[in-house]
Amino acid sequence: MRDFSPNHEWLSINTATIRKQRGAEVPLGRIIDQCAAHDIRAISPWRDQVAAAGLEATARQLKALDIRLSGYCRGGFFPAPDAAGLKAALEDNRRAIDEAKALDAPCLVLVVGALPGALEGQAAYKNIARARAEVRDGIAASLEYARSAGMPLAIEPLHPMQAADRACINTLEHALDLCDELDPQRSGMLGVALDVYHVWWDPKLAEQIARAGRERLLAYHVCDWLTPTRDLLSDRGMMGDGVIELRKIRTWMEDAGYAGDAEVEIFSAIDWWQRDGDEMLATCIARHTSVV
Ligand code: ZN
Repeated sequence: MRDFSPNHEWLSINTATIRKQRGAEVPLGRIIDQCAAHDIRAISPWRDQVAAAGLEATARQLKALDIRLSGYCRGGFFPAPDAAGLKAALEDNRRAIDEAKALDAPCLVLVVGALPGALEGQAAYKNIARARAEVRDGIAASLEYARSAGMPLAIEPLHPMQAADRACINTLEHALDLCDELDPQRSGMLGVALDVYHVWWDPKLAEQIARAGRERLLAYHVCDWLTPTRDLLSDRGMMGDGVIELRKIRTWMEDAGYAGDAEVEIFSAIDWWQRDGDEMLATCIARHTSVV
């Protein structure tokens, strides 16, 4: 396993981690400058932040500061109640692939979606098998376009507590089954984003990471699971403050061939987003070198 203690060469910051500082939204251009000031070499930005900052301006800024992407957040949300909705989702995913390409991302992360409308409070239907079929078809269609663009798609399995509203793919095994079905040749164009927050509890985690192998392991997201967890979406912990065996999971990842970034992705409305952004980044660096 790589030794992260001497420096933070392999640290990436998912820009959601510092999108709010002292409770206020911070523009992406400022976030990128802060990362550069802390000598952070990689980020993973979100589409809404890029849209607000401008795609070309963001690409120029990253190039000027020599900052790479560890992924682009995010595509997906394929299920819809009708044909027009399904079509609109595919079009939106094609745009996301184009943006990821413009930013030279190594992959587009997919939060695949679940029961349409559930995120807004009213599911249009309750048939999760239907949602999973629509996800499968949506990824299959998007993969064709992704291949032509040369942009790998990374399915992120989400914790089952988010199966209704954000993603109906909830285990690494399920994600890899889909990868094997749609990309049996293991082309490198379809794989997974493994986020410890979503999968740390899975009794099959070690065997499924080994099964995934280098071609499927496209991104690695870290944070920690707090006890108690006070909010299902945005009470993620700083690495080292919770119960996830981070070193053990990274060993499994690297034994399987993963050699990319450890991307810090912390949604923390009640704690870290209320703090100073530079304090947050300094803590991420300290924990990256000591516990990740
Ligand atoms: Zn993630």
